[in-house]
Amino acid sequence: MISTRFAPSPTGFLHVGSLRTALYCYLIAKQNSGKFLLRVEDTDQKRSVEGAIPAVLDALKWAGIEPDEGVVGFENNDVVEKGDCGPYLQSKRLKIYEQHANILLEKGCAYYCFCTPERLAQVRERQEKNHEASGYDGHCRELDINEIKNNLSANVPYVVRLKMPKTGVTEFTDLIKGKVSFKNEFVDDQVLLKTDGFPTYHLAVVVDDHLMAITHVIRGDEWLSSTPKHIYLYECFGWEKPVFAHLPLLLNADKSKLSKRQGDVAVGDYIKKGYLPEALINFVAFLGWNPGDDREIFSLAELAKEFSLEKVNKSGAVFNLEKLDWYNKYYLRQLSNEQVAELVLPFFGDKIKDLRLKIEDFANVIGLEKGRVTTLAELPEAVGFVFNLPDYLADMLIWKKSSPEEAIKILSELKDWLNTKSVQPKNKIDWEKRVGEWIVQKSYSNGVVLWPLRVALSGQEKSPGPYEIAAVLGKDEVLKRLEVALIKLK
Ligand code: GLU
Repeated sequence: MISTRFAPSPTGFLHVGSLRTALYCYLIAKQNSGKFLLRVEDTDQKRSVEGAIPAVLDALKWAGIEPDEGVVGFENNDVVEKGDCGPYLQSKRLKIYEQHANILLEKGCAYYCFCTPERLAQVRERQEKNHEASGYDGHCRELDINEIKNNLSANVPYVVRLKMPKTGVTEFTDLIKGKVSFKNEFVDDQVLLKTDGFPTYHLAVVVDDHLMAITHVIRGDEWLSSTPKHIYLYECFGWEKPVFAHLPLLLNADKSKLSKRQGDVAVGDYIKKGYLPEALINFVAFLGWNPGDDREIFSLAELAKEFSLEKVNKSGAVFNLEKLDWYNKYYLRQLSNEQVAELVLPFFGDKIKDLRLKIEDFANVIGLEKGRVTTLAELPEAVGFVFNLPDYLADMLIWKKSSPEEAIKILSELKDWLNTKSVQPKNKIDWEKRVGEWIVQKSYSNGVVLWPLRVALSGQEKSPGPYEIAAVLGKDEVLKRLEVALIKLK
């Protein structure tokens, strides 16, 4: 069985790059009828941020990529877990890491290190001064057994370090990068277990990926150089290694590493801005991957069928917001007015109460602008003219081939005609038919009538067409707005 895991550290919001990692993990699990697991890597307690776990879970839920196992929820200030390999919060697994650190010590794959922080600082300083590679200098690698025993019985603080072989190379085939090779002499003797008994990421990740039967380790590029350490640990334990896939970096348009300074990086920011999950998922899936032809629209289910790690690019993927906008517009248009109306309600906030509209009427209002905006967040302002006619300049009412006198004449005639009882257009088609007939009967051109009508109804330079607006406003409001236009013109 194929198992993947998403292993966030609860240090803040969910980054769009992490959403991509989670998505690719999810897709690989789904396309193989496997399991997608969520493990929380909170071994660096200093960096843990309150509220980060529920925030990550909420963002994944919003995106539709929920874990099958592991941490699956958050209730009463604690995680909700599912599965037989838990706990899935690393801070609850300290005993397991200690046991495994002991196995490594016994096997000679790790060693006690009693170096003080002061000594380590001196080593670092010396290395910097001499422009040497940074890393532990191996001082405690070959300590005498009696010295170790004495230190331990005297309770001298220690860490457990990886005893990385210093000759040869570590090679592995990454599903994305291909064959990768690291010279062991440059791989640091990483701390595995800290003085406070907490493991570091490197020990915890290997132990957990093995005990949780993870077959595919899919993660960001930044972990590639740590992989030789992990591979050595698998070998020390005598465990089968998972497949590794390191995803390319996300880049700003100027090819620098994607950073907050150049725009939003939190999934929550995109939710707040009114992007749809379908759009963000489709967009994120294409950051570094494409199906090899010109298709661009993929639902989550379609992605699960077509996605493959082998087709992920080796080099960085540019985060192009225009493309995200393009996806969002596309997916907004795919939704019915009612669906968009429902999704947009939170964006109206309290204002919605003042509108006192029936939901069908509200959906019609939303339908006016659904195809014209980029995000849900733009909709309240975009449809504002329906509720409150904006103040506008009389000049706007005059079509380029017309005059104020003609505009007054036409709008007055139109108003008088509309005021008769027999004219009761119900919907857009009706409005189009009735007003269209009237235009023909009067031998006017379309432009000379429809331009001032549209401006009178919207109060805006650009807006949806007059028939659509009239259908949403209804005859009484149309008459009022024609009156306003005539007052402005006179
Ligand atoms: N906790 C690590 C992170 O947040 C996970 C790295 C991995 O997937 O191995 O980046």
